[in-house]
Amino acid sequence: MILILKSKMAFVLFSLFSISLTTNASEIIWPNNAKLAVNLSYDDALNSQLDNAIPVLNKYNIHGSFFLTLSNSTVQTRLEEWRQIAKDGHELGNHTIFHPCRKNEEGRSWVPEHRNLDTTSNQAIWEEVRMANAILFSIDGKTKRTYTPPCGDIVTDNGNYVEALQDDFVAIKWQNKYGKIYDKVYMPHGVSGQQLIEYVKGQQAKGGAVTFIFHGIGGDHLSVSTEAHRQLVAYLASHKEQYWTDSYINIMSYVAEFNKK
Ligand SMILES: [Zn+2]
Repeated sequence: MILILKSKMAFVLFSLFSISLTTNASEIIWPNNAKLAVNLSYDDALNSQLDNAIPVLNKYNIHGSFFLTLSNSTVQTRLEEWRQIAKDGHELGNHTIFHPCRKNEEGRSWVPEHRNLDTTSNQAIWEEVRMANAILFSIDGKTKRTYTPPCGDIVTDNGNYVEALQDDFVAIKWQNKYGKIYDKVYMPHGVSGQQLIEYVKGQQAKGGAVTFIFHGIGGDHLSVSTEAHRQLVAYLASHKEQYWTDSYINIMSYVAEFNKK
């Protein structure tokens, strides 16, 4: 009996979950009736992004999102280029100043002790994130911003730190305020162009929005080859009736406006 009840409960929960997913996905109408919104993001302010990603995005007339770690050297050495890509319509997003991550997680021996989120207070990370917004303002003059938590980590020594930052941002990756269907994140590295395209095709039927988080393009860390990246961008550019590809802030601002109606 208990078993039957349990399985009934599971069925009801499963049904509710399915319905809510379907409702969310079908409720939104993307520009030009596209089936899926796609955002191409690039984290950490890397040289290879300016060298190998930007020329391809500009060639195919697609706007991406660059989440700058502001202490990275390129922010000083190539400041004018970052400023220029913002003028060209790409997004400069907040990825903190010093990229703090949880050192206690597996595979995180590379995290310096003084940038260990596990021993950082919420107050300290809030100050860092808000200061990063101020620095970004000095680069591109924008007051609206989105945020990608470094390493996807959202917990400090005092618990969840991003909830208190919701009003500072249009959206926060992994924690956006509009629902799970807009929170799908894929972090590829070492994959082919065909694999990147297959991922997009697979997401199309599910609808909503998907964000690619790239790091190095044809160099640097966690990289995807320049050619694989180019194939994905070319595919998205030639299938605009199916995919609305734009910056994360444009997609999430659209969701916010749509939800108000
Ligand atoms: Zn990062």
